[in-house]
Amino acid sequence: MTKEFNAEIIAVGTELLLGQIANTNAQWMSDKLASMGINVYHHAVVGDNIHRVKDTFEQAQRRANIIFVTGGLGPTEDDLTREAFQLISGLEMEEHAASMEKIESYFTRKSQAMTPNNRKQARVFKGSKVLFNKQGMAPGMIVTHDSKTWIFLPGVPREMKDLVTNEVLPYLHELTGNQDVIKSLVLKFIGIGESTLEHELSDLIQRQQNPTIAPLAQDDGVVIRLTAKAESYGEADGLLENTKKLILDRVGDYFFGVNDQKIEERVINLLKEQNKSISVAESLTGGMFTDKLISVSGASEVCRGGIVCYDTNVKQDLLEVSKVTISEKGTVSEECALEMAENVTKKLDSDIGISFTGVAGPNPVEGKKVGTVYIGFVAHNGHKSVQKFEFIGDRQMVRRRATLKGLEIILNYLKSNNS
Ligand code: ATP
Repeated sequence: MTKEFNAEIIAVGTELLLGQIANTNAQWMSDKLASMGINVYHHAVVGDNIHRVKDTFEQAQRRANIIFVTGGLGPTEDDLTREAFQLISGLEMEEHAASMEKIESYFTRKSQAMTPNNRKQARVFKGSKVLFNKQGMAPGMIVTHDSKTWIFLPGVPREMKDLVTNEVLPYLHELTGNQDVIKSLVLKFIGIGESTLEHELSDLIQRQQNPTIAPLAQDDGVVIRLTAKAESYGEADGLLENTKKLILDRVGDYFFGVNDQKIEERVINLLKEQNKSISVAESLTGGMFTDKLISVSGASEVCRGGIVCYDTNVKQDLLEVSKVTISEKGTVSEECALEMAENVTKKLDSDIGISFTGVAGPNPVEGKKVGTVYIGFVAHNGHKSVQKFEFIGDRQMVRRRATLKGLEIILNYLKSNNS
């Protein structure tokens, strides 16, 4: 019979409360559990204080039936996870021989004396399932207390991930008695907002069951995560493909890739398919756009290069934007953007060229407000355009948004060329 889980993840560590590190462990674990179909209802973060850790554990014992704890298993005084759990469970501890051996041999190898507090790391609850830590010292543990399952894991993300992937997930798979497989597919969109996307798909989202349909705004657009449950991977793939088709029939114009695919990868691939080269003239983006293109392996086949023309003299002398344009229209203008794109295309002898000029902030330039950006675009077939945008955000945000918009402009041009 399938067991319904109500999971909670507790992260122990004062550095998390002080904002010195983000609780990426909980984020990563939640993602893994969600893709297994396990409901996570609470995240908790507690500092290295035994009374507060105990209170947090008691609360979790009341409201969840499977509890994941990360951190506080190390050798120092403030590593209190075991002690706090002992207070609520009364469970005894014993030394785990294989882990102790590993700790001792580590110090022997480094010719260092082992301080006695290191023994603490090898202590595990009697009767627990010990999760041997290949990446570090302190083992993890799975313990049952008053019919609730507790899973203790080291705080170091690399160690935690290794144990979860290789030990905990297979254990949970067996425990759930669930022979179904779960598979996800992420669809990526650009040029459409989350609310519009959701509106377009509202009836599909409302009657979603299998796969589930979850839209989410991200830095480089909007994604929809589809998650299907089926008896085989083949069946799950079929369910995902059917739903993908229903979604793309409605919003396919904005679709650019799946899973980890980046928009710049799609742009480079289309440039290669269409045998077109590109060059870039960048003022406020300062090389950010060219960097995105070049980050894709194989970009050298299509990316001729970029000119960073931040200073007005560079726009004039190197890129040969006309003096008249600059003095009469300004550097943050439609005319300047167009000349930048035209001239870089000629100078670097490419098929298409794109340019960026604008005001990244914090102060206005030439009477133009912060966030004003012109993106020029030209192609060998005579296509020319300049678009004006008013981006919101600080300096870096404006630069990132301009870069992303540039990728979207080229993507749309190449897609329309394909059709
Ligand atoms: P060890 O056994 O290696 O000492 P531990 O189980 O005692 O680990 P902590 O001492 O709490 O774990 O954390 C070790 C390091 O792991 C922290 O300094 C931090 O860099 C990272 N870490 C701990 N908890 C988290 C978390 N929730 N999210 C991300 N990183 C974390």
